[in-house]
Amino acid sequence: MNTGRDVEHAAHCIREGKLVAFPTETVYGLGADALNPQAVAHIFELKERPSFDPLIVHIAHLDQMSTLVAEADPRVFRIAEKFWPGPLTIVMPKGPLVPDIVTAGLPTVGIRMPDNTIALELIQVSGRPIAAPSANKFGRISPTTAAHVKKQLPDVDYILDGGKTTVGIESTIIRLTPAGFQILRNGVITREDLETVLPFDESPVVSDIAAPGMLKSHYSPRKKLLIADEATLATDRSRAGLISFTGEHDAGFAKVIRVSRTHDLKEYAVNVFEAMHTFEDDDTIEVILAEPVPDSGIGKAIMDRLRKAEFSWRAQQDARA
Ligand code: AMP
Ligand code: MG
Repeated sequence: MNTGRDVEHAAHCIREGKLVAFPTETVYGLGADALNPQAVAHIFELKERPSFDPLIVHIAHLDQMSTLVAEADPRVFRIAEKFWPGPLTIVMPKGPLVPDIVTAGLPTVGIRMPDNTIALELIQVSGRPIAAPSANKFGRISPTTAAHVKKQLPDVDYILDGGKTTVGIESTIIRLTPAGFQILRNGVITREDLETVLPFDESPVVSDIAAPGMLKSHYSPRKKLLIADEATLATDRSRAGLISFTGEHDAGFAKVIRVSRTHDLKEYAVNVFEAMHTFEDDDTIEVILAEPVPDSGIGKAIMDRLRKAEFSWRAQQDARA
């Protein structure tokens, strides 16, 4: 049995250089000792993750940051005070102790303090900062339960089961610039939330990551997923599953998963990956449609996940048309 709630055992695994899947408030992470390059290499192998894609390092208290970063900008502490622990990653100049494999050779490291008791305990008891991407095969649907992890990564040394995650989509990622902050990935902490602490830097984001174009497709089910629009809603619904937000288009679908009863975008975020997993596993469903939401606030983060999830399916569909 490699699933359970034994934090001591999980921490022992981390110290031994093994891999532990653990809950955070966003999605489940696949963790290893961030200062052990061999252990981190196993994350890339198990996930089949390309080496150009850097990992986020998770900490349990601010003191841990000094071993990981070259210099902590004082603005980082103002942001941390407001948003940590929480679903926000800050990219900072990296210190010499962080192995290059963690940051994909970049001179910067992404750091986050997760808002989940089990995750914080694991980091504390192991005494190590923990490098962790989401605990799924590269490019596939992110896991929000221990069962989702087991489905994709049955060989992980240990899965800490903390139930379903409470935020449901990955952290917002920012970096600081002389003018303020830039957003590298949208999440439930929005531009507007962050603007209460620092100005938003309007200049275009130039990505450090070697091949950002390859990441247009991500979070993708093994089954066709398309964002619902006039054309897809007009096609045969008898073997289609709908990820529904408003309830306005539910009629006639083989199955409907209503992600929120109260029109709450936070609930869409919490339930979107689970809905994708449910339809992926359901043999009666051939195609998944997902209802879009306005592209602002938390909606930006949801639309980012949906666009990436549909990307390669949409391309196939367009090629056939
Ligand atoms: P995840 O996919 O949730 O494991 O988060 C990893 C993502 O964080 C990467 O795909 C990058 O988009 C981002 N990231 C991590 N470290 C850095 C960094 N040093 N610079 C820029 N982006 C980073
Ligand atoms: Mg991921």
